[in-house]
Amino acid sequence: MNMNEFDLIQRYFTAQSIYLPNVKVGIGDDAAIVAYDEHQDLAITTDTLLINKHFFESDDPAHIGHKALAVNLSDLAAMGASPVWVTLSLSLPHANENWLQGFCKGFFELSTRFKIQLIGGDLTQGPLSISITAMGYVPKNGALLRSNAKPNDLIYVTGTLGDAGCALALLKNQVNLPESGRTIILTKLKKPDPRISIGLQLLNLAHAVIDISDGLAADLKHILEKSQVGAQIELKKLPISNILKNNLSPETYFDFALTAGEDYELCFTIPPDKKNELEKINCVFTQIGTITDTKRLLILDENGNPYHGPTKGFQHF
Ligand code: ADP
Ligand code: MG
Repeated sequence: MNMNEFDLIQRYFTAQSIYLPNVKVGIGDDAAIVAYDEHQDLAITTDTLLINKHFFESDDPAHIGHKALAVNLSDLAAMGASPVWVTLSLSLPHANENWLQGFCKGFFELSTRFKIQLIGGDLTQGPLSISITAMGYVPKNGALLRSNAKPNDLIYVTGTLGDAGCALALLKNQVNLPESGRTIILTKLKKPDPRISIGLQLLNLAHAVIDISDGLAADLKHILEKSQVGAQIELKKLPISNILKNNLSPETYFDFALTAGEDYELCFTIPPDKKNELEKINCVFTQIGTITDTKRLLILDENGNPYHGPTKGFQHF
């Protein structure tokens, strides 16, 4: 049997002989949470970007620098963390200073925006790959976890879904969009905006949060599994950009939204009595469904019938 990424992590890395009392959340959430001081915990996350897998040789190195950091910050956002430090491990085929200048422009523009300091890393010669570890503070015992969704919670997503998946399909000539709408869609893929500020506003408000890196369906399922609950969502409620709606079939844009990944929006749940409080926060979000006690994900199509289209997220293996 071919094991997927999560089976492999479960089989080879989750069981250990050491469990330290200062680890509050280990493997299995968007970031680990470790005890720091009497007011704060630390959130720590790491992600790798590989050439031809997460970006292409022809990509603007400034976009690559931005994205490598942004995807890590997205995981911190999903914990409600304020980023503070970052390390950067780079494997480069050549000492290409033009490329490095571009990369650093994108990387440091974003790190400066969030007042994050680069505190170390590694530089080796080899196939182009970028590994980043990002760390930040969360209020003590206040991190936003995947495991705390409760039946009757309302489920929300930020921004719009499917844009990045559509942009990738556009680059592969699998879809066609008018010139006028391309830039905005491509920017979502190349320069995702980590939802740090929204994560912070969700502290004390959200029950469960995850960032959508592998498609809504797969990532919502992580919340359901970790929280031991189910969910019902409605396709007609999914926030889809007009450019997708006006140029693609519903089948295509719902597929991007549910399965394509790389949107780096947040999916979160709140108890129903927090709805008024949520409406006061400064962000774009949409309610897409509710948490149930069924332990499965029910997706309703535009006519209210069960949706049987693809829901598998991005699979690494
Ligand atoms: P995300 O998509 O939020 O980055 P992943 O799906 O990549 O999270 O990983 C799921 C969980 O498994 C995370 O907690 C991550 O830290 C952990 N994980 C992934 N790979 C490994 C590994 N090789 N060793 C230990 N933990 C891992
Ligand atoms: Mg994540």
